[in-house]
Amino acid sequence: MRYYQVLIADQIYHGSEALTYSSELMLESGSLVKVPLRNRQVLGIVYSLVAEPKGKQIKPVSQLLDTPSLSPETLELMVWMQKFYSASIGVISKHFLPKLLLKSGVDIPTPPKTKPSLPSLKKLPVLNNDQKQVIAAVKDQGTYILHGETGSGKTRIYIELAYKAFVDGKSSIILTPEIGLTKQLYLRFEEVFGNNVVVFHSHLSENERFKIWLRILKSQTPLIIIGPRSALFSPLRKIGLIVVDESHEDAYKQEQGPYYHTTRVATKMGQLYKATTILGSATTNIVDFYIATQKNIPILRLSELAAASGPAKKLKVQVVDLKDRSKFTKSGHLSDVLLSRIKETLDRKEQSLVFLNRRGTARSVICNVCGWQALCPNCDTPLTYHADDHLVRCHICSYHDVPPSTCPVCSNTDIIFRSIGTKAVVAELEKHFPSARILRFDNDNKKLDRLEAQYENVHKGAVDIIVGTQTLAKGLDLPKLSLVGVVTADSSLYIPDYTAQEKMYQLITQVIGRVGRGYLDGQAVIQTYLPNNPILRAAVSKDWAAFYKQEIAERQQFMFPPFCFLLKISCKRVGRSAAEKAAANLVDDLKSKKLRLIVSDPTPSFHEKIGNKYQWQIIIRAKERDQLLGVIKMLPSGWSYDIDPINLL
Ligand code: ADP
Ligand code: ZN
Ligand code: ZN
Repeated sequence: MRYYQVLIADQIYHGSEALTYSSELMLESGSLVKVPLRNRQVLGIVYSLVAEPKGKQIKPVSQLLDTPSLSPETLELMVWMQKFYSASIGVISKHFLPKLLLKSGVDIPTPPKTKPSLPSLKKLPVLNNDQKQVIAAVKDQGTYILHGETGSGKTRIYIELAYKAFVDGKSSIILTPEIGLTKQLYLRFEEVFGNNVVVFHSHLSENERFKIWLRILKSQTPLIIIGPRSALFSPLRKIGLIVVDESHEDAYKQEQGPYYHTTRVATKMGQLYKATTILGSATTNIVDFYIATQKNIPILRLSELAAASGPAKKLKVQVVDLKDRSKFTKSGHLSDVLLSRIKETLDRKEQSLVFLNRRGTARSVICNVCGWQALCPNCDTPLTYHADDHLVRCHICSYHDVPPSTCPVCSNTDIIFRSIGTKAVVAELEKHFPSARILRFDNDNKKLDRLEAQYENVHKGAVDIIVGTQTLAKGLDLPKLSLVGVVTADSSLYIPDYTAQEKMYQLITQVIGRVGRGYLDGQAVIQTYLPNNPILRAAVSKDWAAFYKQEIAERQQFMFPPFCFLLKISCKRVGRSAAEKAAANLVDDLKSKKLRLIVSDPTPSFHEKIGNKYQWQIIIRAKERDQLLGVIKMLPSGWSYDIDPINLL
């Protein structure tokens, strides 16, 4: 008889220890098995062979599943995630194993055999010098930050590196923040790698997912996996390259257990597989950038437009002051300049993109005359207006106050509580351009699918004006697009969060980056209440260094990441005072324990009322991440948490 430590891949098991089972068989670690646990059959992953445990009754493994085993690196990664995110293997394995595998009595399908096609780089443009330098700098192991302007040819580099890995017999994982962008990426890779490219995401049916998962697990030849963050957990055995494209995007943070961040896991995974990990972005995260400078992680730059052959294409950016109403004679939202640029673009039969910032739905407190905005005196982040108790509140500390009736800067009484409508803009465009083909995209997932479905149409120019939110700013490469208009550039700034400025920089950079990609002369019209804001100015002039310098200094001054670790914990109660009291009790409790923590006072969450419950939260900071993991372990029931949260809303 042999004895095995088995990781329990089922959420009924909350423990952190592997359990011991017996079997007559010689089981490879990584094998998938069914084991009995509390009168149920659950899925397990064989971790290691152990000596016969003394004095304990050991149950036998019930069944060995007929699938290849998971790689040793996968097991190590799961165990690392368990510790790093203080989560159970049951929660973590959900990301690694298809749901159908957990069900008993499901037949294991046989994926169709495909003859792998021979990849070829022949159809691609030759690399320019910048690209060659980047590729020469990338070794076949290690983490790199690829800080390259939009359109500078990053994707072309990923393809080149994936090709190298392929020739070496290794697979690549290429991650994209949005499912809506997988199509574009897929087409680029498919051109080179043919049927070796596999799209893997959670929007597939369970059955399809299971089949693709098995195809990857059983594949004898290298594959190129493309997909959103969940694709990181494809069951590959040999990995040569992991790319996190647009690595700054919030979508890379898993907002449910185990609350992992893709860039962190991808980096760890790269180490385990001895692979190259590339974090690619035009607007690298402040935190990633800072860590790279501290840990000597190479930061590779790409600054020239890749497609610029022939005479260089121009990009003209115009900033329109939203406070100057004389510039808005035809429409409340769309400036005269923007409207006439759209008209010219239509006349040239090119495309326009009108961009609305969905993050702007918070009601912030702004002076309508000088653009002053109410900020928290402690945290320097925007205060939000709560109509129910007519207070402005900070959602990071507990600061609150009555809203000012006059502006502290210009003494004007025209103080507004503003949130921005989106549909109105579409209606106005229709009014001004009745014969234009207008297509609207929004942020919810159903419509993201529409971007996926409509991508080819949009790409070939069957749409004149595209109206949309964040999604459209990300990585779209449209040859016929020559104008972008931003309705309110600064609305991200009115979000009460420490990343507000960074978000704004990223957004402006990304939006501007949709035009001037070397196909056509590009124009951008940016409407803002704060035309002189240094972050906006830095973004418009693509001055990353200036932005980084200012932002990192503020993070240090107000002690936000990368200068500390964050934990957000929250509780929901039926009554407001019950929620407040529960939070206050926990704060007292935490403070009495004398841990090395900075515990904020309780505050209502940004969305305080969820369903019929009130949610309050506490922000905890620590220099040592382990201290925060300790807090997670001792949370009373009824509390939820987010470790390394990307926002504090
Ligand atoms: P990014 O990923 O940085 O936005 P891409 O790789 O998508 O940039 O490149 C932008 C455009 O430039 C694409 O249409 C691509 O085909 C083209 N391109 C990339 N590299 C080159 C090159 N070396 N020569 C000519 N065109 C290129
Ligand atoms: Zn505050
Ligand atoms: Zn004012």
